[in-house]
Amino acid sequence: MAWLRPADRLSFLHRFLSGVKGRLLAWAVVAAFLIPITMCGLSRADRPETYPGDQMQTRVCRECSGQRSDCPVCAGKGKVFVITPGPNHPSWVALEVVQAGSPPAPPALTTEELLKPLPGGVGGARIKLEKDGKTIEVTTTFTGRTRVRLAPGKWSYTVSKPEQREVSGSFEIPVLTAEIWKSKGLSRKDGDWLEQPLRVEMARSGAHKSGP
Ligand SMILES: [Zn+2]
Repeated sequence: MAWLRPADRLSFLHRFLSGVKGRLLAWAVVAAFLIPITMCGLSRADRPETYPGDQMQTRVCRECSGQRSDCPVCAGKGKVFVITPGPNHPSWVALEVVQAGSPPAPPALTTEELLKPLPGGVGGARIKLEKDGKTIEVTTTFTGRTRVRLAPGKWSYTVSKPEQREVSGSFEIPVLTAEIWKSKGLSRKDGDWLEQPLRVEMARSGAHKSGP
């Protein structure tokens, strides 16, 4: 710095020091954000999806009050994400396709429940759902069940399968108003499931082939 005049040397030193201070301040700000995120035990991967109008915060797990390391709701993290849903937040819907006249069964909402057999369940049925020009297609598993996430509004559906008569209809997905407490995995207790499953009864086509 021999080429700098004494006054310039001072200002260089000043700038250097304020640069250090600036960097320290920047790190302090980063740390102030990072520490609470790390401390709360919820990682980015746990973050549930949010939609326009949603508000999200973290709260102490209501199931275990943050006290149980084996809690299935918070996975021992002590805290969960809570969403105050906006007008666009979708609901999970359990779908059931059965042969006409089959007895009712408890609705399946969780992954484990979806694997439970459904009396008279029609596997491989294609369900086409439509709202405002948007189309979603799902297919029932071997149990006759499946699930889908749908935005609020009126949806129409068409259910089809070879050798079965096509069935169509419509139903309404309400705007969610209650808080959604996101637990680990899918749970009907979270508050973002449609209470009743959409149940569709199918009848075999070609009635002239009267079976045994
Ligand atoms: Zn818990």
